[in-house]
Amino acid sequence: MKISKYLQIIQEKNGSLCFNSLMGNLFFLEPLYMNTLKSFHSPRELTEKEKESSIVSELIEAHYLIKNDLEERNILKKRNKKWIKSVVGGRRVFLLNLIVSEICNIACPHCLHKCSVNTNLSHGNKKLMDWPTAEESINLFTNLMAKWKRKDYTVSFGSAEPLINWRVLKKSVIYLKKINPDIKITINTNLLLIDNEKAKFFKENNVYLSTSLDGPKKGNDLIRIYANKKGTYGDILNKFKLLAKIGYPLDGFSITINDKNFNYVDANFIKWASNQGFKGIATDIDLINTLNSSRSVDDYVDKLMELRKACLESGMENFGSWTTAYHNLVNGCEDNMPTFCKAAKGNNVSINPEGNIFICGHTNTLLGNIKYFEKTFYPKSPYCDLIEKRLPGNNQNCFSCYIEGICAGQCQITREAAKRTKNKRDLFLCNFYRAATFKLFKEKLRAELINN
Ligand code: SF4
Ligand code: SF4
Repeated sequence: MKISKYLQIIQEKNGSLCFNSLMGNLFFLEPLYMNTLKSFHSPRELTEKEKESSIVSELIEAHYLIKNDLEERNILKKRNKKWIKSVVGGRRVFLLNLIVSEICNIACPHCLHKCSVNTNLSHGNKKLMDWPTAEESINLFTNLMAKWKRKDYTVSFGSAEPLINWRVLKKSVIYLKKINPDIKITINTNLLLIDNEKAKFFKENNVYLSTSLDGPKKGNDLIRIYANKKGTYGDILNKFKLLAKIGYPLDGFSITINDKNFNYVDANFIKWASNQGFKGIATDIDLINTLNSSRSVDDYVDKLMELRKACLESGMENFGSWTTAYHNLVNGCEDNMPTFCKAAKGNNVSINPEGNIFICGHTNTLLGNIKYFEKTFYPKSPYCDLIEKRLPGNNQNCFSCYIEGICAGQCQITREAAKRTKNKRDLFLCNFYRAATFKLFKEKLRAELINN
């Protein structure tokens, strides 16, 4: 037996957190376990006593100790092959992202969608979806759900600003509710086009709204701006009030941080959000732009840790793609396939105004068109190939990274944009994810030590 080359140890004096880079399996190890593990620093046979030892069998089960000739990557390859078979036919899909609009009413320089789509022509020229395309997309998707007997599916309207195409958006929601009254519908909107009538419509149809506010006025108004550079803070707050007034308040919002609003987004702002009654805040840094993001990895990690601490102290949840690897390891995933997002494992299908198909609303890797929807999910199709390449253990970009099996290849649009623009944002973000995950582990280890 030998110690796995993928074993990772985060150590403090009275205990260590260990996991396997490929397999996951996070455990807190007391010194007795650590000493047993260290006794295998040179490969050796188990003694008769060790063959009966529960400590040794737990270390083997966790893939910390492995047989000398075991190639652990082969285990993931086998798992991934099985997974990709289940992606064929769209069997894993449970979310449709309908891009009813590829244009926006404001002009944030850090816009993910605009920056991503602009690096490639795959989204085409049509900027607003017409009703026949929306209707056909909904029919194709709901038929797919019926084929696989799925009832728990979601339709999400997002990407640029869906409310710009109100007529098609409203018609789609009504149509979807007719097909399945229990359907989950979500809209990602900047809120600025919402009025009383639209707000009431969302409430009546139980449409979940998610939105962004990039800090207090001084911070938000530096980056979340209209085309004339005017800030949106006051207008967004008025929409918060409008929704609260009709009895449909938002439960949270997202914050994107870059160099410009960095100093304004702090624990006081989080406290303000908590006092307003918000229940959760998503925090993230820019996933693709290098514009206004020249601070160091450590600056950003410390900032996000500060905001996370403030959220938790205020009794709010804190989310963000930067915590993905940590959550994959600590909480695991129901389907045992830890990826950066659900799109990367074949749970999503996204359709734009041209009827073009992508794994999510922001990526620009073209995977098909509704004219040949079924073909999209054929074996070896561009859709299946992309998912297969991205599965943890298959992604060559990630070999030898200490969080390979749990980070699983970062956001697809980061990779696409970095490749096209050569802005190296992918490399910055890899360092950022590794550092952030390490800090989160350290925090967890300290908590475990206190508990013990
Ligand atoms: S941090 Fe980068 S190299 Fe490491 S697993 Fe994530 S995407 Fe891959
Ligand atoms: S690839 Fe995944 S993480 Fe990236 S924008 Fe799409 S859904 Fe979000």
